[in-house]
Amino acid sequence: MRPIQTIRDRILLWAWGSLVLTLLSFGCSLLGDNFTTIAFAAFLASSLTLVGAIMDITALKRAHVELERSEQRYRHLFTRMPIALRQLDASRLLVLFRKLKAEGVKDLGPYFDSHPEFLRTCMDALSFEEANERAVQMFGGGPNGYVGRAMADTWRERPDTFRRAMESRYRGETNFEEETRMVTWDGRIVDVLFTTARVGPINDLEISLVGTIDISPRLRAQQELQRVQAEFAHAARVSMLGELTASIAHEVNQPLAAIATNGAAGLRWLNRPVPDIGEIRKTIENIVVDTQRAARIVARVRGMASRKVPEHASLCFDEIVREALLFLRHELESRGVAILHRPCPATPQVVGDRTQLQQIIVNLAINAAQAMTQAAHDDRRIVISTVAQDASTLCCSVEDNGPGIAAEHAGRLFESFFTTKESGMGMGLPICRSIVEAHGGRIGAECSAAHGGARFWFTLPKSVAAESPRPDLGVGA
Ligand code: ADP
Repeated sequence: MRPIQTIRDRILLWAWGSLVLTLLSFGCSLLGDNFTTIAFAAFLASSLTLVGAIMDITALKRAHVELERSEQRYRHLFTRMPIALRQLDASRLLVLFRKLKAEGVKDLGPYFDSHPEFLRTCMDALSFEEANERAVQMFGGGPNGYVGRAMADTWRERPDTFRRAMESRYRGETNFEEETRMVTWDGRIVDVLFTTARVGPINDLEISLVGTIDISPRLRAQQELQRVQAEFAHAARVSMLGELTASIAHEVNQPLAAIATNGAAGLRWLNRPVPDIGEIRKTIENIVVDTQRAARIVARVRGMASRKVPEHASLCFDEIVREALLFLRHELESRGVAILHRPCPATPQVVGDRTQLQQIIVNLAINAAQAMTQAAHDDRRIVISTVAQDASTLCCSVEDNGPGIAAEHAGRLFESFFTTKESGMGMGLPICRSIVEAHGGRIGAECSAAHGGARFWFTLPKSVAAESPRPDLGVGA
């Protein structure tokens, strides 16, 4: 039997009950029973049913009022929240998703790969229902302009975010969040934190509440900070080049001297009564090789001296170390320092700026060489090692066998202007730290290294690009 739940059911029951009991009492009176008792029982039963029905109506009214209040609260929150909120109708999207699920599509990612046009179909299947005050301020369009409007234009700049949001919805996730860029109704592009909450019964999330927070001021401040850090790094590089002037001059001089020697030899072969074409060709070939060598050195120096926006390229880290060591070769030789490079066998890649990463190595190695020279050590050695710290991080260390770091200095090494050198500036290590941190890594120092001196280390996140086969980096550059 159907449970008696609704007020209609109660009233019907009351009417039928009254009728049956009245007929019964009439029948009983005919049979001579006590009519008054039965009529009273009929009246009592029907009254109780009626009171129940009235109570149901009151409870329903109360629930209705409560619902209205809650709806008002939601409205109030929605309109006044200091976050741009927009409500989307996702019912048509759900129909599309249900169809795909029925066809056996488990993951939307591969489906998008093979059906790129489906992304646009999804965009068209989502439409705005309304927007709050902050959303109208941010995206324009007027409070009533949102109803039924499709959202394809909004994603013109970053369809990839929309794609990830769709994949997340397809997986049945109720929330999604990402920093991205959105297009306003008048065509402006805003940097936002995009968050979405899907509302409704599970597997039937018909309404999406999209919240967007303008993060442009924060990004501008970050960019400004990066610009200032890059300026400082550049100033430090120029000053480092100043320290290396003698070495650079020596480096450039070597190929130039070789060119002069080969030129003179070539002329002599040419001035013979019978010029030796074979020898002349050899000298010219040597001149070409040395010219290229000189050009490479000049390019390296120019790269270090130039002021440019930091790049984000995928780089083989030990290749960077090797290039940095080319800068240091003469400087270290002249100080009697032997340097050993132990590359990581897995040749990890990092994403970053080649010049800035070289700057760290050069800086740490010059510091090590200076410390050992100051301490007048005879056996001077620097070991640069790269190891994979874990699956996603590499660690590079620069160890020396110099005097090490005094315990009272250990906590101050990375402070700006901290130096123990007579002509030091105390900016090398703070700049190394800002470069490492801008690349998503950490830097530190240990007082005594395995080789008896200082050990500086820094970590960097490995890039996701496949690791390349091991190039012949050599040991002891
Ligand atoms: P600067 O080289 O101008 O002094 P840095 O910031 O590069 O500035 O270095 C700060 C200080 O850290 C140095 O003055 C020195 O006392 C200490 N330091 C750096 N590297 C080493 C090292 N390898 N061994 C010992 N002390 C070091």
